[in-house]
Amino acid sequence: MAACIFCKIVKGEIPSFKLFESDKVLAFLDIQPLSKGHALVIPKQHGEKLVDIGDDALAEILPVVKKLAAASGAENYNVLQNNGRLAHQEVGHVHFHMIPKPNATEGLGIGWPMG
Ligand code: C5P
Repeated sequence: MAACIFCKIVKGEIPSFKLFESDKVLAFLDIQPLSKGHALVIPKQHGEKLVDIGDDALAEILPVVKKLAAASGAENYNVLQNNGRLAHQEVGHVHFHMIPKPNATEGLGIGWPMG
C-alpha cells in the first residue's frame, strides 16, 4: 500500500535498523523503543490486521520473534500485537512487538498499554 509507513520500510524508501529479513518477513528496531532492543517483526505483504495475513507468513513470524528475544539477552520480555485503534494499533500494517524487560524489579516499566 503506497502510504503505509511499514511498506515503505519494506521497500527501503525510508530507513530502518534491520534485524532480520526473509522473503516474507522483516524485523527492525522500533524507532521509539519502549526499552533497549524493542523490535518489530512484520509480514512484508501489507495487511492491516492479523486476519488479513496469510498463515504462511504468520508461521514465519513467531520463530523470528523467539530468536530476537533470545538475541536480546533478556530473560523477561513482552510480545504484543495490536489490532485496531481501540487496541492501541497506531500503524495499520500488522506488526509484532518484542519488548525486552531489562530490569525485573521495575514492574512492566514501559507504559504499556497506553491509555
Ligand atoms: O502497535 P502500534 O501500532 O501502537 O505500534 C506502532 C509502533 O511502530 C510504535 O512502537 C512506533 O514507535 C513504531 N514505528 C516505527 N517506525 C516508524 C513508525 C512507527 O518503529 N517509522
